[in-house]
Amino acid sequence: MDEKLRCYICNNIGDEGIILLNRYICRRCELNLAGVSIGELKYEKFRRGIRDIWKDFNRKYNNKSMPI
Ligand SMILES: [Zn+2]
Repeated sequence: MDEKLRCYICNNIGDEGIILLNRYICRRCELNLAGVSIGELKYEKFRRGIRDIWKDFNRKYNNKSMPI
């Protein structure tokens, strides 16, 4: 990966990390995601971020087969 990407969760610019459903998530957030426990304030933020990614993904690729 040679271009700099902006983390979808924390907005940091970086080039290490993962691409989840076409969204870049930096290394730090990736590790945080794996490490946070339910109930932590941080967790809510990450959960929202991931949920938004999923919503976006569903809208894009799954539109016609949505049951509701
Ligand atoms: Zn991040």
